[in-house]
Amino acid sequence: MYNPKSHNADEFISHTEILDTLKFADENKDNIELIDRILDKARLGKGLTHREASVLLACDIDEKNNEIFELAKKIKLDYYGNRIVMFAPLYLSNYCVNGCVYCPYHAKNKHIPRRKLTQEEIKNEVIALQDMGHKRLAIEAGEDPVNNPLEYILESIKTIYSIKHKNGAIRRVNVNIAATTVENYKKLHEAGIGTYILFQETYNKESYEKLHPTGPKHNYKYHTEAMDRAMQGGIDDVGLGVLFGLESYRYEFAGLLMHAEHLEAVYGVGPHTISVPRIRKADDIDPDTFDNGIDDDIFAKIVACIRIAVPYTGMIVSTRESAECRKRVLELGISQISGGSKTSVGGYFNPMPEKDDSAQFDVSDRRPLDEVIKWLMELGYLPSFCTACYGSGRTGDRFMEICKGLQIHNFCHPNAILTLKEYLEDYASSETKKVGNELIAKEVPAIENENIKKIVIEDLKKIEAGERNFKF
Ligand code: SF4
Repeated sequence: MYNPKSHNADEFISHTEILDTLKFADENKDNIELIDRILDKARLGKGLTHREASVLLACDIDEKNNEIFELAKKIKLDYYGNRIVMFAPLYLSNYCVNGCVYCPYHAKNKHIPRRKLTQEEIKNEVIALQDMGHKRLAIEAGEDPVNNPLEYILESIKTIYSIKHKNGAIRRVNVNIAATTVENYKKLHEAGIGTYILFQETYNKESYEKLHPTGPKHNYKYHTEAMDRAMQGGIDDVGLGVLFGLESYRYEFAGLLMHAEHLEAVYGVGPHTISVPRIRKADDIDPDTFDNGIDDDIFAKIVACIRIAVPYTGMIVSTRESAECRKRVLELGISQISGGSKTSVGGYFNPMPEKDDSAQFDVSDRRPLDEVIKWLMELGYLPSFCTACYGSGRTGDRFMEICKGLQIHNFCHPNAILTLKEYLEDYASSETKKVGNELIAKEVPAIENENIKKIVIEDLKKIEAGERNFKF
């Protein structure tokens, strides 16, 4: 029985409800009257249920699909403006005891080099990332209680926050590690993490158990209820995601939205972010062996429908996707992207020109961060290195309240301008700096609040004079 308020994974992600939803969506995919009603509701910008959004995803009427894409673009602009938040992944260790069949870190892979960064190596990685201009990281590690115990993760977070190199600083560390206990989530919260990210991989329990044949991750219920334990441990920003390609995308889409509904129903705050990774080639992984691959058109439709269904949730796309594909989904709903990423352990300090032999997946967008920033600005986006909400305690329900009231512009837009200016002064090439300063000259007059505008103009001068870390 579907019950979003239940704490039991089999009830808040109900297989029967997903099958009913898919049937309902199939029956109504040409029902123009219903689709129009759903679109009218979506235009209010308050989101949709998993059933309503699934009808939009199934719809194959060209004219209505165009309306869906246009609405997604409008909601993206209303909630996020032209800002794109930047981050980088940092792989700490690829030791892993699990048997995930889509990941080259699986325990049976005996030829991939296993690496775990020492604190000294983490320091080198972080300095390399700071020298690129990054302020926000997502740390990644396989599940291995002996090699990567929680104490190692906590020590690493401490090391990362402690490094102040030139004008650099990592101001927000998001954490993507295996499902764990409430006690451990409390410790992560106390260590000052930003978002706790855990991909569900697939919401289909039967497939999940087959795709995770061995190791602690085999336990579907423990994995699916992890966000509840994270919330109970005090972490109020959690990031969801599925690995598209493992199961039918429509099943995953409904499951993902049910998970968001569950968090909203129980904790009053939906997911902070949703990631949309697609399965990629990696060491001993061939994506063609999975039957549910999705093409770029379906991928774009998924992004647009998620944007409409949960307008206040940030959406992340990584360098798994090509520059061309990223360009397409940026306008449809993506609010955060990684840039200059290395998906191997130790790849920033010691890059391997040919092949990252310890990488979790092949990177598609291999451009350096400076190039990505210039590209974004030339497309009309405002790259942001802002982490101010986190530093000012605007997380969880406080963040959502501001976001749902469309008030986040008052903070995010000026903060994006200020952090971009810092980036341009400290790290950008002369060409990127030129494009960036022209962009800032256009963005400042667009600040509606005169007081804020005045402060931004003063702060920009102070940044040019060498001061740092201004924020609203
Ligand atoms: S997906 Fe995570 S848990 Fe699974 S094998 Fe890879 S690193 Fe380990």
